[in-house]
Amino acid sequence: MRRFGLHPARWIMRPDPVRDAPEMIHELVCTTCEVASGAQGDFDAVRDWAFAHTDANPTHLRYFEMAARPWRLVPADGDRR
Ligand SMILES: [Zn+2]
Repeated sequence: MRRFGLHPARWIMRPDPVRDAPEMIHELVCTTCEVASGAQGDFDAVRDWAFAHTDANPTHLRYFEMAARPWRLVPADGDRR
């Protein structure tokens, strides 16, 4: 069972950029038809896809964004593992 609440700060959580990979991955899903843009590292690309999707389907006006970013836990005492 997971425990929540105060705990000793043994770990620090930091973004963990992957070399040669985008810092964040974005995907937009049309909430009307559930068609997705596909995952892209460039938000402008998924935004442009949404504009084109609504141009082709003028009643499809709402989107849900899914975003992913890699994270890494590191020891709070500075020990690099
Ligand atoms: Zn749609």
